[in-house]
Amino acid sequence: MAAEIRTFSCLNDNFGYLIHDPETGATASIDAPEAGPILKALDREGWQLTDILITHHHGDHVGGVAELKQKYNCRVVAPHDKAAKIADVDLRVANADVVKIGNLLARVLETPGHTLDHVSYVFDNEKTVFAADTLFSIGCGRVFEGTYPMMWDSLLKLRALPDDFKLYCGHEYTASNVKFALTVEPDNAALQARAAEVAKLRAENKPTIPTLLGEEKRANVFLRADEPQVAAKLHMKGADAAAVFGELRERKNKS
Ligand code: ZN
Ligand code: FE
Repeated sequence: MAAEIRTFSCLNDNFGYLIHDPETGATASIDAPEAGPILKALDREGWQLTDILITHHHGDHVGGVAELKQKYNCRVVAPHDKAAKIADVDLRVANADVVKIGNLLARVLETPGHTLDHVSYVFDNEKTVFAADTLFSIGCGRVFEGTYPMMWDSLLKLRALPDDFKLYCGHEYTASNVKFALTVEPDNAALQARAAEVAKLRAENKPTIPTLLGEEKRANVFLRADEPQVAAKLHMKGADAAAVFGELRERKNKS
């Protein structure tokens, strides 16, 4: 039986996600921005929380952990400590570790840059990746703790996943990302199509997530820093892709 995934909003613009294994009843929350909406979603479905998979140490991803752990005594899975202070952790994971959520398998992909501890969780059988604040739809996270080459390398790891994988990210930033991406690639047809789709979804107050990785590869300028036309647009012909990526990220910061 296929995994069931629920998407809902938390805090201002965070996404909450539950992934549920109907065979065993196991249910994981991907991050825990705040307890309230996660408890409500569990109640709605009649699911018991068995696991929390934490992607990185930022408060808007771990704020609900203590309350959920107290209520469900669930297992808390988090990246290996890199000076990050995540409390209540039961299992520390590193690159290529596989975590079982009932019969579902979550593969750990280290994707540092936004923070040094950031990991993404890849459910290969479900063709699904939870990339939190590394890769957004038509955008990427700010590079707070790592370097541009480090973040670019993390984006390449995500880009290497198959086109038919669904991307679930940490924040609803897609409309703002689209606006910026169009300043760099106004003639990108895939981006134009995504822009129309996002405008429609937002007008209906619907989430823009999930998206397909294949579409992101064509429309997300941050995954396209090694395209010659992107470098040319930034007057960086022949420059290293990581440098082009860094320039994109800095322009977005100022936009
Ligand atoms: Zn973050
Ligand atoms: Fe965040």
